[in-house]
Amino acid sequence: MSDYTSKIALVTGGTRGIGKACAAALAKAGFRVAICGRDAERASAVANELATSGVEVRGFGCDVANGDAVEGLVKSVNETMGNIGVLVNNAGITRDGLLMRMKEDDWDAVLNTDLKSAFYCSRAVCRDMIKQRWGRIINISSIIGLRGQAGQTNYAAAKAGLIGFTKALARELASRNVTVNCVAPGYIETDMTAVFTEVMKKNIIHQIPLGRSGTPDEVAGLVRFLASEEASYITGAIIPVDGGIAM
Ligand code: NAP
Repeated sequence: MSDYTSKIALVTGGTRGIGKACAAALAKAGFRVAICGRDAERASAVANELATSGVEVRGFGCDVANGDAVEGLVKSVNETMGNIGVLVNNAGITRDGLLMRMKEDDWDAVLNTDLKSAFYCSRAVCRDMIKQRWGRIINISSIIGLRGQAGQTNYAAAKAGLIGFTKALARELASRNVTVNCVAPGYIETDMTAVFTEVMKKNIIHQIPLGRSGTPDEVAGLVRFLASEEASYITGAIIPVDGGIAM
């Protein structure tokens, strides 16, 4: 078993759902973990909850759609915990609607939170990863970025953008032993999908070969693996966790 106690992982959007499960899995594997959400108090409360087994988990308030806020977040993590070795770009929102009625605000909010945030966060941490000659950047995309979905042009564009971003950055950082990979979840039960009607849920499940929705822990297991030494020869990969729906 590798010892990750000297490694710091930052999970954006770690207060709920997939991000919280990733933070818990990384902490369990021995990483020291920083999580962020828009509200500092909520992030600290979740961090305290995750830190119960004696591992260090700290919560920070940061709107990842804001470049200055991201620079401040990374500075705070560096000062209180140390240099970041693992970045999980997980924070995301949806603002669904048909394109012909979509407001520019809804386009911008999703692109900024789901895609531009990965640019801000990765740019802010990659210099230290390069210096350390070790790093893991893990982007949480979606099968919607692979397949598209009516009513989600903004979300699909952001998630497809993350896939291209992953491949380009993987090529940029590979020679420095920094891997960049992308996880593409399918239908996972979280607050984000809790808004689906029963009919919508039934329709989606009908299309999933494994015949059920996934859990945040099932995504977190892959994220923990990609962060580990065992995943040292994987970079630029786009890996679905979707019950087979995208095949
Ligand atoms: P969720 O339960 O709604 O959680 C979203 C997380 O993102 C929360 O922790 C939230 O924190 C954070 N967040 C949102 N906007 C933020 C901002 N501007 N700055 C900082 N943090 C922000 O969603 P989820 O289902 O776990 O989704 C996590 C990721 O997986 C997203 O990127 C999503 O697109 C992707 N995904 C989800 C599914 C699914 O079926 N659930 C499928 C494919 C991909 P606060 O509210 O505390 O700010």
